[in-house]
Amino acid sequence: MAETRQRDTPAELALRSRLHRLGLRYRLNVRLKGLASRARPDVVFPSEKVVVYVDGCFWHSCPEHATVPKSNAEWWIDKLKANRRRDSRHTAELKACGWEVLRFWEHEDPAVAALIVQQTVLSRRRLPD
Ligand SMILES: [Zn+2]
Repeated sequence: MAETRQRDTPAELALRSRLHRLGLRYRLNVRLKGLASRARPDVVFPSEKVVVYVDGCFWHSCPEHATVPKSNAEWWIDKLKANRRRDSRHTAELKACGWEVLRFWEHEDPAVAALIVQQTVLSRRRLPD
């Protein structure tokens, strides 16, 4: 299936600029080693092993804003379900490899999301190797 994940969405940019302002340095669009899947998180903290996704409300079927286009509804339902399954698969695989996975919806407050990311990253820095 084609990669439908949207890059550099306004929600993602809003989160990234806040992370930057908090002094956090991350990498983007990294192909993570040792994964069977093609998981490519939006934001990656390689040393702390934290990845962040900002999921679009439509493409990832957020519980508050999920919609299905009226034309080709069946096709869209399958497509959107497949996206959700892939999200779960990627999250499970990343966690199994020792990554902390943070997922936010595009409708979430980026300032709050940034603080959660900061807290997670800092807590992982204190962990011994
Ligand atoms: Zn939403």
